[in-house]
Order: sequence, then structure tokens, then C-alpha cells
Amino acid sequence: MNPKSTSPKFDEIAAKVIRGQRDDSPDDIALFPIHDFSAKLRQEDVLPRVKAYIDWQRGVRSGALDPKTSLPDFAPVSINLDITTACNFACDHCVDKDILNTPDRYHQQSLLDSIEVMTEKGLKSVIVIGGGEPTLYRYFTETVEFMKSLGLQVAIVSNGTRNSKIEEIAPYLDPTDWVRLSLDSGSEEVFQAMHKPRKKITLDEICEGIPKVKAVNPDFKIGFSFIITWRDAFINETNIVENLDEMVEATKRAKEYGFDYIAFKPFLTRAEENNAEIVDLKQSERHFEGIKSKIAVLLEEARELEDDSFQVYATTNLKVLLKGVSERYMSQPHECHMQYFRQVLSPLGLYNCPVYRNQPHGRLGDLDAYGTKDDFGKTLETTAAKIQSFDSTHQCREVTCLYHTVNWWIEDMIESPEKLKDLVPPVDFDPDYFL
Ligand code: SF4
Repeated sequence: MNPKSTSPKFDEIAAKVIRGQRDDSPDDIALFPIHDFSAKLRQEDVLPRVKAYIDWQRGVRSGALDPKTSLPDFAPVSINLDITTACNFACDHCVDKDILNTPDRYHQQSLLDSIEVMTEKGLKSVIVIGGGEPTLYRYFTETVEFMKSLGLQVAIVSNGTRNSKIEEIAPYLDPTDWVRLSLDSGSEEVFQAMHKPRKKITLDEICEGIPKVKAVNPDFKIGFSFIITWRDAFINETNIVENLDEMVEATKRAKEYGFDYIAFKPFLTRAEENNAEIVDLKQSERHFEGIKSKIAVLLEEARELEDDSFQVYATTNLKVLLKGVSERYMSQPHECHMQYFRQVLSPLGLYNCPVYRNQPHGRLGDLDAYGTKDDFGKTLETTAAKIQSFDSTHQCREVTCLYHTVNWWIEDMIESPEKLKDLVPPVDFDPDYFL
């Protein structure tokens, strides 16, 4: 389908999306389920540390506590684990292009020790993602097996080129774990142009791996991730291949090959000033209303393919973009509380947020920052200092932050502690500790 701006359906849907009438409330965003972080932090076994953190903040702000030594003795609830910087694609749209294929790597035993130390201190989940293709890591299978033996929830984000590795780890995964493949295309032509595999592989070959993984273990979800790109999208000094017109074709493909869902998200670039990952609203502003309208129509068409076993998601930042409320999500409290609950461990070091991978202002330590219990104590102090010194109101002012809602939720409880007593765990909520 190639919607024309003159078709009645196009105009009607586009107008509603732009006015913000596609969700239940015109004023708010229905969060993409995996982005409902406030609910995740209210789970029974996490809530006590949220309360401890709020008490710490109140103690520090009143001057009763020394921030350096008093941050509650917990690991992050969740980490993004960049397990390798190696990648066998050369995607123009990659936000991590500058940090790929570096010589930095973990010593495997130190990595396992770090994961164990964090787990003893309350780590609950690991998203193996970013900064490289995880399945290329020599000890990928062993590391996933080890994390599952510790009782961690595990998610994998892969480019799909080594689905035999996903088959290897499939027996260890539970229904609350997940795997997501970043494919971003419906046709072979756009797939090749966008991803530039270094070794020949086709989109069909990748998708054919899904039924094989499902045959090993059908109990966890496998998603098809689609970053929407548009004309004039620009990063890494390159104009990005446009894939907007393939949203529906990709949805058909995802359904046909047995993926459980397709998730659409907007293309990100890097801010000039501090290299933060952002949706670049300025570059495309001349024709951006048209792009938004077109995305809305194609999303609607893709959703017609949903059934009981296949879903179509628009991620929170896509909804924010389509509703034109990005600015609201760029307003952060002075202190980013999520730095305590979710961090990024990479061969390049430990960072405070996925938006600041390998950025000096987001750095918390080196790759062994959690290697031993002593290291853990020092990193807790560094984290406390970073929470105080990192001004997210300023640093993140161009970021449509996925953690905006949860950060303000925590800030509100620091300022109004009487609300703490009303906090109860979410009802009918499957355990989900991914942050
Ligand atoms: S405010 Fe958002 S973007 Fe900024 S550091 Fe915190 S989580 Fe990351």
C-alpha cells in the first residue's frame, strides 16, 4: 500500500493520531507493556529496595545522610549486558557504529564473577543487547546457561545471523524470557541495503530459523524488531535507507514465519552536543507531519494482521512521536533515579543508561566494576556520586526518555513520602524485571 494524503482513510487516521486520539486517553500514552517500569518496580520482591532508595534520597536531601556511603546495598534490578563489540553487519543506522569491533573484551571468568556478585546483591534480569552481535561472543551459550542457573530472567537481542546459537540456548529459556531479532525490513532488497551483512545471508534464511527455535522450545516469545526510517533520516554522516513502506510487508513476513510479534520503533540518531541517542525531530521537520501520518496509517494496516498468537506493537517512543508529545518526555527530573535500578555493562565499561553507552559523562566504572564484593562497594559509591552529579534535566533534554514516567513517579514519592504507604504490587502481573 502506498497511502496518498488525499485518501479519506489516510486523512481520518492521520488526524486522529496527530490529535492524540488513538489511545484510551487523549492526554496520555498507553505504555508499551515492556515499558511499564513503575509496575515492574512495584513487584513484591523489588518494592522494598524502591522504598529504601526513596528513604536514602530523603535522607540525603535533608542532610541527614552522607550520600557517598549510604546508598542501599543493592545491585541494579536489571542490566543491559553488551557481551561483545564484534558485529557481522555494517548497518548505516547503527547508533553504536563508533564502538563496534574494538579489541575490548571480557575475561570470561571475570564476567561470570561480576554476574554472580550482582545476583547476590539483587540483580534480577539481564538483557543481552547492543554494541555488537551477542551470538558472536565465544562463550555466548555458556554465559546464558550460567545466568539461567542463577535464576535470572534473560532476554537476547540479535541480528538473527546465527540462529543456531539461539537454538542452543532455547532449552534454558522460560516463558518470561524473550528473544528479539532486529530485522527492520520486509524485502530482501531493503534488508541487504540497510544491514550490509559482511557474510552473505538472506532475510529468508534468517526467518527460516524461527520455526527451528520454536521446535526446540515454544515457551518464550520471539519478536521481530523494526526501526522505522524515513527520507532524510541521518546518522553517521549518512542518509539512511528508507524502510517506511515495508512496515506491512514486514508484518506479514513476521506472522508467516512464526514470530510472536512485531514491534515498531522510530529511528534514533545522536545529539550533536553530548552524543545522546535521540529521535531527531529537527532534521525532518519540513515534511515530518506527513511522515507521521503515513506511519500511523501503515501501523493501522499492520494491526489488521493481529490475531491470538500474533501482535503488532508500537513502542512507547513511537507513540510519543506520533502523538506529538515528545517534548513532555524530554523533561526529566534533575536526578535520574533509574541509574540506580538499571545500568549497562559493556566490554568498554559500566554506564548509567543505554542512551550513554561509551559516553564519558555516563561512565560508572570499567568492565570489572562489579567483579568482586570490594569492587561492588566502590561502584555503589560511584553510582551515588553519579546520581547526584549527572544533571538529567540538562543532559537528557533532547532525549524522549523511556524512563520519563518512572523517574517522575519516584521523584513524586521522594517529595510526597505519604504516598509510599499506598504502594502495592501490581495485580495479575507476570514476573517481569527487565528495565
Ligand atoms: S533521564 Fe532517561 S535518558 Fe537520561 S540518563 Fe536517565 S534514563 Fe537515561
